[in-house]
Amino acid sequence: MSLKIGVHGLTSCYGCQLKMASVKEIINIARNFDIKYWYMISSKGEIEHVDIAFVEGSVTTKEDERELKIIRENADILVAVGSCAIHGGVQGILFGEEYEKAFKEVYGDKKIEYEAEISHPIKNFVEVDYNLPGCPPEEDEIIYYLATFALGSYPEEKDYPVCSECRRNGYPCVLIEKNDCCLGPLTVAGCNARCLKYGISCIGCRGALEEIAWFDSLAKTFKEKNMGEEYVKSRMEIFGKQYEKMEEMLKKVFENED
Ligand code: SF4
Ligand code: SF4
Ligand code: SF4
Repeated sequence: MSLKIGVHGLTSCYGCQLKMASVKEIINIARNFDIKYWYMISSKGEIEHVDIAFVEGSVTTKEDERELKIIRENADILVAVGSCAIHGGVQGILFGEEYEKAFKEVYGDKKIEYEAEISHPIKNFVEVDYNLPGCPPEEDEIIYYLATFALGSYPEEKDYPVCSECRRNGYPCVLIEKNDCCLGPLTVAGCNARCLKYGISCIGCRGALEEIAWFDSLAKTFKEKNMGEEYVKSRMEIFGKQYEKMEEMLKKVFENED
């Protein structure tokens, strides 16, 4: 019997869903699944019980939180898809006073239905069984996850950084050779060091390696290369704003003048 799946989007750009929908073999792959919910490609249906729910996007509104809990209650396995769902995404950069200020500049006194809150990864609200990283995830990873589930097995998450792929490809190290602020050492691999192929430093779009992201030791290296705290913080915050230990790690490095 085919596995029942649902694909959901919370606060996000819908890029992860779009990537899933545009996988070259998606029509053939989809034949192996019974798709119960995928709003982006079909408006039908209420959320119902599925074997696997894929959730893109972060929790940025009360509505997101409510929907996420319903999804979780109705899924045997829940997969967080992409940096928004796994880490909170770029939408967490502005909140509170900063958000009010930016909103006023852009929209003046207009009102919107939802007020922005700090963006949270979905693991802060529900149990997450697997993470499918990326912004958006790579095609081969999407196929790997779907195929592994279809075979009755479970995907293995990568636990090594972008640097591994960069070195394997023999790309010049922009951190060593150009003193660039490259976040490859703390970013989860899987993109085959795409940006480094073009000599562009990694901005960490796939998210920090959970538990072993050494923001402090990398920040120390950046400091030794004369990069200032504000600059380093502004780079690390783009995809790491919600990483709770980051600020503390940076303070430790930059407040120590040794
Ligand atoms: S992880 Fe990236 S591609 Fe996916 S929804 Fe968020 S911003 Fe869009
Ligand atoms: S360029 Fe960046 S990703 Fe590549 S080895 Fe250097 S620090 Fe790591
Ligand atoms: S920013 Fe880093 S993680 Fe994202 S695609 Fe580029 S190299 Fe890969």
